[in-house]
Amino acid sequence: MTKQDRLKHAAPFADLRDLVACPVCDTLARLSSVPLGGQGRCKRCHHVLAMPRSNAMTRIVMLAVTGAILMVGAVSFPFLTIETHGLRQQASVLDTILAYSDGLMVPLSLAMAALIVVLPLMRLVAILYTVAPMALGHHPIRGATQAFRLAETLKPWAMAEVFIVGVAVALVKVGGLATLTIGPAFWAFAALVLITVVNDNLMSSLIIWKTLEARGSI
Ligand SMILES: [Zn+2]
Repeated sequence: MTKQDRLKHAAPFADLRDLVACPVCDTLARLSSVPLGGQGRCKRCHHVLAMPRSNAMTRIVMLAVTGAILMVGAVSFPFLTIETHGLRQQASVLDTILAYSDGLMVPLSLAMAALIVVLPLMRLVAILYTVAPMALGHHPIRGATQAFRLAETLKPWAMAEVFIVGVAVALVKVGGLATLTIGPAFWAFAALVLITVVNDNLMSSLIIWKTLEARGSI
């Protein structure tokens, strides 16, 4: 078989590798033509499939490291101080979690620890494990595919933002009864939620899967 014949036979498969299915409506799309800084959308439902950005991997790593540091601060620093009738009570997120660690409330305590702290932190570590070596120009390290699959699975379960909305509602209710002072952990949590949103928008799962495939991890 001549080289030309081989190319002719390989071409349809090369074309197939370039196709991706929209996660919302399953319509197939070709993303190789999306320019840097542009957006690749599904032709049928307009779901954003890819947004190639320059240095996206480095930015994802920076944001994930910042998120992990903020999470440590958010857990260890005071979250809120309540003062009323001469009584003063200061609490951190850890105190709040441990407050339910007795009797029938133990499952609630475990769920709070998992959904607010452990799962978001695990997700950040899994993203770093997958993306950091590739951002430095190396091949993905062993288990990168499984780590990124874990990060994708954990996405709906990492609920730090739900916690901050709940706290905001509670603050409005309690605000009339006592003097509230917001601690540094509150701002660390608020910044963490913003960073998570920016990182999720920047991180195109499809492009990371494609890069893992191209660099031989899948
Ligand atoms: Zn679609």
